[in-house]
Amino acid sequence: MAPIKQHFDYLVIGGGSGGLASARRAAGMYNKKVAIVESGRLGGTCVNVGCVPKKVTWNAATMAETMAEAKDYGFDVEVKNFDWKYFTAKRDAYVKRLNGIYSRNLNNDSVTYLPGRAKLLSPTEVEVDEQTPEGEKLNSKTVYTADHVLIATGGYPVVPTDIPGGEYGITSDGFFDITEQPKKAVLVGAGYISVEFAGIFQALGTETHLMIRGDTFLRSFDPMIQEVMTKHYEEGMGMNIHRRSKQTKVEKNEATGKLTVYYEDINGPAVLEDVDCLLWAIGRKPEVGDLNLPAVGVKQDPKHNTIVVDEYQNTNIPGVYSLGDVSGHVELTPVAIAAGRRLADRLFGGQKEAKLDYTNIPSVVFAHPEIGTIGLNEPQAREQYGDENVKVYKTSFVGMYYALLEHKGPTSYKLVCVGPEEKVVGLHIIGQGSAEMLQGFGVAIKMGATKKDFDSCVAIHPTSAEELVTLK
Ligand code: FAD
Ligand code: NDP
Repeated sequence: MAPIKQHFDYLVIGGGSGGLASARRAAGMYNKKVAIVESGRLGGTCVNVGCVPKKVTWNAATMAETMAEAKDYGFDVEVKNFDWKYFTAKRDAYVKRLNGIYSRNLNNDSVTYLPGRAKLLSPTEVEVDEQTPEGEKLNSKTVYTADHVLIATGGYPVVPTDIPGGEYGITSDGFFDITEQPKKAVLVGAGYISVEFAGIFQALGTETHLMIRGDTFLRSFDPMIQEVMTKHYEEGMGMNIHRRSKQTKVEKNEATGKLTVYYEDINGPAVLEDVDCLLWAIGRKPEVGDLNLPAVGVKQDPKHNTIVVDEYQNTNIPGVYSLGDVSGHVELTPVAIAAGRRLADRLFGGQKEAKLDYTNIPSVVFAHPEIGTIGLNEPQAREQYGDENVKVYKTSFVGMYYALLEHKGPTSYKLVCVGPEEKVVGLHIIGQGSAEMLQGFGVAIKMGATKKDFDSCVAIHPTSAEELVTLK
């Protein structure tokens, strides 16, 4: 065994959203001796290949839409070519600055940063195979011991293994390495990532094909969201939606680098040629490969491989905890951060009952326009409370921004209420500004607001949000 170097109160594996938040809370607030092991760039998925570069790219795509719409407001603008290289260089430099800030923050809180790949030897011993954040191995292994070990190693995107040539496709990680804007892109999947990235490509002028297994995308969302957004992507934005589709083969022209995608959809077998980018967005798996979990006895979900935890983020092994994407609950950055901070509060801050409440977590799909959702969707509410106890308020209208535009974007809102007091148990919104709107409504719903509470708030005029407090 490699030499034991140091003992810590808390050793965190994974320097992403959850790990960083928990480590910094334990060291910065509770003065514990803390180390964090990270094999890639600090910040994890969100900062490097997720929320942050995605949102910046979404901003660019939204600007393209706004510039095109500006003509209808009387501006003499012509949208020229988008300089992908200029934009991505600036975006990547911003992410790099964030990596530096994260490193300095660890330093400020006196968290020891151990760049390398972690493997559990026992519940209290962690071996670190040292490597640079770029993945260069340093051929040096060191063992560290700790009273408490947190596993917050996130996940990775899935590539199908049963489609010949499937390996020619990229995933969301590879999206951030694209050096030239694709002329033609095919995205497979019906979740957050495919809907966000397909919207970005289409808004920036790429010929975009979205291949889904069902008739709508975002199938776990409220039916209103599925229907309105699938229709808008197809008819409003002009995207090619391939329903009930299945890819059968992918070929690559080595000379040009272009792909040919063979598939079937509701119209039968077909082929897409000259594809510059095929992006698989068919879900993610937990990053557990190198952790040596079975040997240490850490229980995993037999189907998904996620680490099984209780509501306090305890695994089945005392002193070993897990949270964030690797534990497979709600896969969102603020969820991992909140769970990480609560865990540190419980372990080191004397707050014995500290834990994250996983109900009513708001989330946004950065589609075009944005989608916001919190709580139960209509079918879930009907199943949970019975049809007779559910009342739904909804509206669809043309937001005032679109009044002068030839092409109108959708705005649709729905409140799902239950019981005689009409407690709001679900809120689902589509439309410009939904991302920023949702946070405040989230507070109200978390506090248990009723329809009457919504109505008692005086509207802000003229906005789209005012419709949510005047629903009939
Ligand atoms: P991660 O942030 O993935 O961090 C885990 C870290 O552990 C990684 O840095 C990894 O390198 C490291 N690691 C893994 N194994 C080891 C090991 N053995 N040793 C050492 N280090 C290891 N969420 C939102 O809330 N809003 C969004 O807009 C949003 N957009 C997204 C867009 C995309 C394209 C993707 C993929 C995700 C997005 N998410 C978004 C989800 C969000 O990024 C994740 O939920 C969040 O990053 C999870 O945090 P985590 O701490 O669990 O894991
Ligand atoms: P999701 O779980 O959201 O979606 C994956 C989708 O792929 C499924 O809904 C499924 O849709 C479809 N799918 C699965 N297998 C196949 C297959 N073999 N062929 C075709 N389609 C398939 O995963 P994502 O990877 O999009 O995102 C992972 C998580 O990251 C999200 O759940 C979310 O928590 C987080 N995230 C959050 C964002 C945000 O907050 N804005 C943005 C991006 C990610 P169906 O069953 O309908 O076919």
